[in-house]
Amino acid sequence: MSGDRRISRNFGFPARRTLPVQADWEDPSVDLKRRLRDAVPRPVADRAREVRKLVSGWKHRGDRYECPICRRSYGSMLPAGSRVDALCPGCRSAERHRKMALVLARVTPALTEPQRILHIAPEPALRMWLEAQDTVDYVCADLLRGDVDLRLDITRLDLPDDSFDGVICSHVLEHVDEDVLAMREFARVLRPGGWALLNVPHEPGRATTYEDPSITTAEGRLAAFGQEDHVRIYGRDEFLERVSRAGLSYVDSFPITPAETARFRLEATPDFDVIVIASPTG
Ligand SMILES: [Zn+2]
Repeated sequence: MSGDRRISRNFGFPARRTLPVQADWEDPSVDLKRRLRDAVPRPVADRAREVRKLVSGWKHRGDRYECPICRRSYGSMLPAGSRVDALCPGCRSAERHRKMALVLARVTPALTEPQRILHIAPEPALRMWLEAQDTVDYVCADLLRGDVDLRLDITRLDLPDDSFDGVICSHVLEHVDEDVLAMREFARVLRPGGWALLNVPHEPGRATTYEDPSITTAEGRLAAFGQEDHVRIYGRDEFLERVSRAGLSYVDSFPITPAETARFRLEATPDFDVIVIASPTG
């Protein structure tokens, strides 16, 4: 821990109290935040979240935006880094989470038919939303996290064939060396007619995916792929080719109107994500 960065909490009054700040708190390579989160018992965390939702909802009251996850309206949202009005004051969903919720509701039978869903690296807001659905038999998994149902390597899923109706995997494949192998595993564990919601960041206009397995350092990956733990930059069409190579076929493009994008505040960066609903080719 560095003692260089400190937050002043004296609100303009003579120094009364300063708190040392974990210098690397937001560094994704430092897992302190995750470890703290894992240490909080689930019922306590859920109750705290409910209280926070009430307070925050009142603070951000209004009708400019609507969150499709917590189904409430807000006059403003919380900032995230340089993004204004990014996080839902109620459920803390980010833009892409709200978009995924809309896609799940519109394109998949997740909310209308009994569905066994495998959620990889679960986003907390989406997880709570899915767990609350009567139709969803929910299982979440992650390679490293302790707050999930299963610890799994997505390139070697220790799960039977045809055992899920749906798989959700967002912003994970760009971290995985063998992304096609992972998607093949999704195809294997999905029952015929099942669906996968796959979401990756891409570079708009890029025709081919850029990857270079010789770049293995955090600095090298940051320079080449834009993030220290990314292993490629996807081109949209080439990502869809990989989906198809993995034995999944593209199902839907789920049109969302500009008015809905504004109302639900769905995009941090327009056209940044590729969200695909795909089904096992069989
Ligand atoms: Zn919300």
